[in-house]
Amino acid sequence: MSYKFPLLMWLCLFGTQLYAKPTIIAHRGASGYLPEHTIEAAVLAFSQGADFIEQDLVLSKDLIPVVLHDIHLETVTNVEQVFPKRHRTDGRYYAFDFTLEELQTLNVHERTTQKGEQVYPQRYHGQSPFKIATFEQQINLIQQLNRQFKRNVGLYVEIKSPRWHQKNGADLSQITLNILRKHGLDNQDSHVYVQCFDFAETQRLSTELQAKVKLIQLIAENSWQESESDYDYLKTSEGLKAIAKVAQGIGPWIPQVFNFQHNRPTTLVANAHKAGLLVHPYTFRKDELPKEYSSQQTLEILFEQLKVDGLFTDFTDEVKSYIDKQVNEVKPKG
Ligand code: CA
Repeated sequence: MSYKFPLLMWLCLFGTQLYAKPTIIAHRGASGYLPEHTIEAAVLAFSQGADFIEQDLVLSKDLIPVVLHDIHLETVTNVEQVFPKRHRTDGRYYAFDFTLEELQTLNVHERTTQKGEQVYPQRYHGQSPFKIATFEQQINLIQQLNRQFKRNVGLYVEIKSPRWHQKNGADLSQITLNILRKHGLDNQDSHVYVQCFDFAETQRLSTELQAKVKLIQLIAENSWQESESDYDYLKTSEGLKAIAKVAQGIGPWIPQVFNFQHNRPTTLVANAHKAGLLVHPYTFRKDELPKEYSSQQTLEILFEQLKVDGLFTDFTDEVKSYIDKQVNEVKPKG
């Protein structure tokens, strides 16, 4: 007798429970289609079926968190045209040197390199005058959409460059927590994650700042100089245990969980799960797939083979349609 029959019966009886639906995190909104982090990109991600929409936060001069990936402005806005003289001595324009009112006069465009070339050439080509959004504008937007569409799409907030902000005299983590608390969102049950690359800051959020919201430790490579954290250590079993003391999960880079060159998983997902941590890797992009892997194969590896708990993606629609197909395939008939 074949194994298949009892397995099939089991699938039919418990099919819907067998497939734990992974969390879809819209990375910078629907950034595969519209300029990242704009209100429009958040709306599109919501309508594409994201479970969470990401907000990277940096501060304005008047200490208001705005949704931007970088402390610099020139790769996503027309700041050089509007305020040509307002760069620092390194030639760069910092969001922190502009008031919110000034920031909101800028137009946001598709991400470019320092030389002005579009980073993802197939993406948005238009010139609509998109604007920088504040964190609270995005909270209000998502809450209103949730109410009207009876959904529970969450916020996935990143504290950007906390050390840099502190050196400039500002406490981004404290300000972010104050806003979450004002909206009643700093608790374990709220549909919110707060993520950070800087492990010392994740620890500070949990201890000194008494954050109750779910925390995610992002994992970079030491060579990127993203923060002073030692990512080689954080990736070890010991490091993961240290993370589990203060956070609910990790956000590793996809190549840290699967070696695509040798077509085999690393031990990171298994070890993180063993430490009781969720794993939400970044970033699935259909226009930047691992060499010689299709979109379908990459998602199969992440969800079926590695069983990651969620995924950051610029293409919510692509991941959503993959997950819906898996759910339908194991659904009981009749
Ligand atoms: Ca981010």
